[in-house]
Amino acid sequence: MRAFTFDALPGRVVFGVGSLARLPDEVGLLGSTRVLVLTDPATAEAALEVERALGRHFVGTFRDIQQHVPIEAVAMARAAAHRHGADCLVTVGGGSTTGFGKAIALDSGVPTVAIPTTYAGSEMTPIYGITADGRKRTGRDIRVLPKTVIYDPALTTTLPPSVTGPSGINAIAHCVEALYGQDANPITSLMAEEGIRALARGIPASVREPRNLDARSDALYGAYLAGAALAVVGMAIHHRICHILGGSFGLQHGDVNAVILPQAARYNAASAPEAMDRIARALGVNEAAAGLFDFASSIGAPTALAELGVREVDLDRVAAMTVDPAPWNPRPVDLASVRTLLDDAYYGRRPVPAPGVPARR
Ligand code: NAD
Repeated sequence: MRAFTFDALPGRVVFGVGSLARLPDEVGLLGSTRVLVLTDPATAEAALEVERALGRHFVGTFRDIQQHVPIEAVAMARAAAHRHGADCLVTVGGGSTTGFGKAIALDSGVPTVAIPTTYAGSEMTPIYGITADGRKRTGRDIRVLPKTVIYDPALTTTLPPSVTGPSGINAIAHCVEALYGQDANPITSLMAEEGIRALARGIPASVREPRNLDARSDALYGAYLAGAALAVVGMAIHHRICHILGGSFGLQHGDVNAVILPQAARYNAASAPEAMDRIARALGVNEAAAGLFDFASSIGAPTALAELGVREVDLDRVAAMTVDPAPWNPRPVDLASVRTLLDDAYYGRRPVPAPGVPARR
């Protein structure tokens, strides 16, 4: 076995249908008495339940959640936390809502209980992202890692198929990059492979039957594993491109993930054969990149940047931003090959194996 280093992160996870009811006890364990709730309109109903459950410990709600966490909205969220004298944040929502909680925690050190309602996985990571001057920048700080995460699959049944599919692929992308990432280790690779398996089982069934709690539980469990792997293993070219496209053009993070992931897997196939083998095995297909493309198509997720409204004339700029500076990646990242990847992504070409890359044994 190869030598490895594994930085396990702290954090408490409460998982299961109905686990939202555990929230007051979990806040009590943190010793907090003044809770600010963060939510967006799509999760307002769950947030109402949260507010009621918190009783006299509930001090206010911040609702102005915006995708990609723009710095101007962050200033308002921080002011709200300060004004209410919050000593705990409860985030109810997707990665954007979790992101706002992180932006407040970064500034104030206030502990967070995260209640995720998509498959973004941000709740498991000490990584934050804030968009300023048209570019999303990420950083790492242990203060932003939620102290407790409550995963209640019942809260995800309202997630429409158009968000369920791409958000699930976002989680699969965390697993894929965790398998070939710079800090990959045998433990995170176990989580990542199992995460893909659970998501590949749960997401298609959740798209077909949004109220199927078994499917929703599989999907949310996979998203948890994916987030936990992402938290430890640095990401690579796929995430760099997705952050640039999302931050610069205001696209849905899940949609961009669905389009880029098969192309990023194709890009790295020859440089990370063991990872590709594990991805293919978990998906139950012969070849990872084409399998990821077929998975996205089969659940109705987008497969072409053109479908998302990206203009072909912008691809040169996206390629230039991707290599400035070039991210760590198993295959070196240069301008010409990134531009080719983006061309394939723009037209939604089904990846074909690179020369010399065998299908799964
Ligand atoms: P999101 O939070 O914007 O949610 C996507 C959409 O789903 C929104 O319209 C939201 O209103 C809706 N929604 C959420 N929960 C719902 C529910 N239960 N029912 C109905 N609708 C619901 O996006 P996301 O895909 O969850 O997260 C993406 C963001 O998270 C991006 O900004 C990305 O960069 C970030 N992210 C960060 C990390 C990290 O570690 N820092 C990891 C993954 C993603």
